[in-house]
Amino acid sequence: MKTSQRVLVTGGAGFIGSHLCERLLGDGFDVLCVDNYFTGTKDNIAHLFGNPRFEVMRHDVTFPLYVEVDEIYNLACPASPVHYQFDPVQTTKTSVHGAINMLGLAKRVRATIFQASTSEVYGDPKVHPQPESYWGNSNPIGLRACYDEGKRCAETLFFDYWRQHRLRIKVARIFNTYGPRMHPNDGRVVSNFIVQALRGENVTVYGKGTQTRSFCYVDDLVEAFIRLMRTGDDITGPMNLGNPGEFTILELAEKVIAKTNSRSAIVFKELPSDDPVQRQPDIGFARRALDWAPSVPLDQGLDRTIAYFDRLLAQRN
Ligand code: NAD
Ligand code: UDP
Repeated sequence: MKTSQRVLVTGGAGFIGSHLCERLLGDGFDVLCVDNYFTGTKDNIAHLFGNPRFEVMRHDVTFPLYVEVDEIYNLACPASPVHYQFDPVQTTKTSVHGAINMLGLAKRVRATIFQASTSEVYGDPKVHPQPESYWGNSNPIGLRACYDEGKRCAETLFFDYWRQHRLRIKVARIFNTYGPRMHPNDGRVVSNFIVQALRGENVTVYGKGTQTRSFCYVDDLVEAFIRLMRTGDDITGPMNLGNPGEFTILELAEKVIAKTNSRSAIVFKELPSDDPVQRQPDIGFARRALDWAPSVPLDQGLDRTIAYFDRLLAQRN
């Protein structure tokens, strides 16, 4: 492996981005982390500051960026429904203008560029589990559209830059991923349930809790990112990355309460609009192309994530 490779990670101070920066530094790369700290924090990357191969730049990807790099991982975008719906226009701009700016950068410096796309491109899927060939069922004008349609448009841009400019692209469709360094107030289900259970507060299940999700531990996901980036030019994606183990939200709530020995009660709240009913990745393509499969079962990943939030909440008290 070349050790002089310079890698740009946008959204590098976020949950997944911080794990990716750490992994890339461990693999010997020079890492430039770009973030506007909308949902990410310096705390997520503070342990990397002493590394001379790590550089951080406060920058919003909706503005052009001029740097010299060999590879780009484009992760900048809020991922939690609460955060991406806070300023929906900015969310679309981040996905679309951010993609245009990063693709323009990749074109100028001839870098390979990776896009953190999402299972949300399938919307509320009518095909189960979801293969990459499924075009999806998304609402273009709903509350989730700023994220879903923004990410869909970003995929369009990636494939047009590939066709028109022969850019080397790697598009990953990421399914629900969890682990340490999720924001405690980020509103996503795993962090919400763990924080609520550890604080002894009610655990808020939206709807009846019969909707399903498939949860991937962050280390498994980052391993897949690295393998996808290393594939030959014939592999562009889109490629589903996630853990096919599927659970109802109610099952998750019960699991978290049991694991934390919490006395929290489960309460049922209104289901947010356009909330997908069922989600499970078909990861056949990733298995074949990357020789990859997730290795951390939900029980183990939850234990590690609970330990992280336990420490974090203790520090704050
Ligand atoms: P996150 O919110 O923790 O990280 C996103 C990072 O991007 C944050 O550090 C944020 O400050 C930064 N950011 C947001 N807008 C920016 C802008 N305009 N300019 C620069 N930086 C900006 O979320 P995450 O879970 O780490 O997600 C990372 C990427 O993976 C996102 O693109 C997300 O859409 C994608 N993804 C995540 C999941 C998941 O389950 N975690 C699932 C599907 C897709
Ligand atoms: N959810 C829930 N309680 C919460 C947060 C989320 O029941 O406190 C549900 C949410 O309605 C959805 C699922 O958990 O059905 C996953 O939500 P999340 O925001 O983590 O991600 P999504 O997959 O919807 O983008």
